[in-house]
Parts: sequence; C-alpha cells; structure tokens
Amino acid sequence: MLICLLCFNAHLHAKSLALSFDDGLNPAFNAQASTINASILRQLKDKHIKSIVFPSLIKIGDYQGKQLIRDWGISGHLIGNHSALHQNLNKENVSAKDYIKSIEHADTVLKTLPNYTRIYRYPFLKEGNSAEKRDAVYQWLEQHQYRIGGVSIDASDWFYNQKYINYAKQQDLDKLQQLKQAYIAHLLNRAEYYDKLAQLSLKRSPQHVLLLHVNAINAAFLKDVITAFQQHGWTFISAERALQDPLYALHSQNIPAGESVIWSIAKTQGITQLRYPAEDAPYEIDNLKQHGLH
Ligand SMILES: [Zn+2]
Repeated sequence: MLICLLCFNAHLHAKSLALSFDDGLNPAFNAQASTINASILRQLKDKHIKSIVFPSLIKIGDYQGKQLIRDWGISGHLIGNHSALHQNLNKENVSAKDYIKSIEHADTVLKTLPNYTRIYRYPFLKEGNSAEKRDAVYQWLEQHQYRIGGVSIDASDWFYNQKYINYAKQQDLDKLQQLKQAYIAHLLNRAEYYDKLAQLSLKRSPQHVLLLHVNAINAAFLKDVITAFQQHGWTFISAERALQDPLYALHSQNIPAGESVIWSIAKTQGITQLRYPAEDAPYEIDNLKQHGLH
C-alpha cells in the first residue's frame, strides 16, 4: 500500500520533457559534423527518444549538411524549419517580408526530407520587436498551416560547447569530466527554474521542450544528460507529443516578443524579478566554480 501511494505521488509530480536540436552542422566547415550528428542520433536511439531537429539552411550548407538532416528523419525524428538565413526578427534591419521569404525558402528545400513537418522554430527565440512584425509572421505561419516550435526550457548548451571544444583540443580529460558534471547541473538547474516559473504562471507543469543544438558537447554527453534527468524525476516524451501542449499555440503579447514561452507568459503577467533569458557567461560563473572550472 505504501509503495503504491509513493507511486501515485511520484506520478502526480512527474515532469515531462522533449528534446529539440537547432541549427544542424555543415560538413564543409566542421570536420566533425558527421561524427557529431551520428553520435547524437545513436544516443537518442539507445535511450528510445524521438526528438525534433530544426535546421537552418545557412548553418547546414548544401548537399552534405542536408544529408545529415535527412538521417534525423530516417531515424524517426521530426524535421522542422529554422529558416534559411537564421535572422533575428528583433533586429531593426530585418523586415517581416524578408524574414518570411527566408522561412519559405527553407520550406522549399527541406520539404523533400522524410518526416519534415511544418513546425517553425524562431532563431534566437526572437519573435519580433514591433507588433506589426510579430503579427505579420504569426499570420503567415497560421495561413500556411505552420505550428510554432516553441521552447519552454531555454538553456546555454552553446556556451558549454565552447568550453568543451577548448578542453577537447587540449585533451584535458580531468577538465572534460568536470565540464560534464557542470553541464548536467546547468541543464537540470534551467529545467527546474522554468518548471517552477510554469507552476507560478500557468499553475501547472507543462509538457516541456528543451532547446539544445547539434553540437560536440551533446555528441559527447547526451546519454549522461538524459540519465541525470531521469534520475531527477523527469520523463522523456516525444517532441511531437510535447508540442501538442496548447502552451505552444499561444502568441506572445509582448514587445519585444519571444524567448521561452513560459518566460514570455510570466512577463505578460507582470511577474517580477525574471532573470534575463539569454543566459550567458556571468550566470554560469558560480556553476563553473562549483565544478572546479573557473
Ligand atoms: Zn538557431
């Protein structure tokens, strides 16, 4: 009886998340591109997780990079759209018209890939610095049966990836081991932060989507990251399922618009003391120090 009660409790507090991977790699510029791509796919397969990749044409280049993205579709992951040019919609010099052209261009190129789906991930999670631009893109997406590939858990894998590349170059195995622990702690911390913010703003724990990139640190540590999340009570669900949470169909009311959907809602609600979401080096110093890396 006691065991069942515990099960029930655990279920009540179960937090679920899906993984999403942005950008993709270009083998013409990154000699490790296929190794990294294959390693991430292998770890997802070993862990029985179906995710979504959001390639941007400028990041993957031509034929070879597209072949790597094709592998995601063949492996049963969804392929979304992350635009052709990877522009920041909050920049003054990026017009809604040009921005939409860049989405359309990517659509034309990516739609031939298996498991391609009309889900759009905004580069930098920026959804517009004016109501006109913001709403013009929302309207275009809606008219073209696009869903928004929103993110609930924003994190800084790109920051930890830079450190990974440096330590790997130096073949500093001790530092790499410390970095793995720091990276896992960072992702868990970000997930708990956004889950708490969701409980505050939405009054529930949503089907989370974590933002990662196709990069070296995930190729090296993804399986350990997944195991750590499972040990901390997180359940992995497919990206397809997570994105069905109505949370991701909401349009931002803010100017500038964008960021984590939970952060965005909390901002609209006037919840104060929100940490600026584009996490960066200053935020990570304590975590690095705790793991002997600063
Ligand atoms: Zn991106």
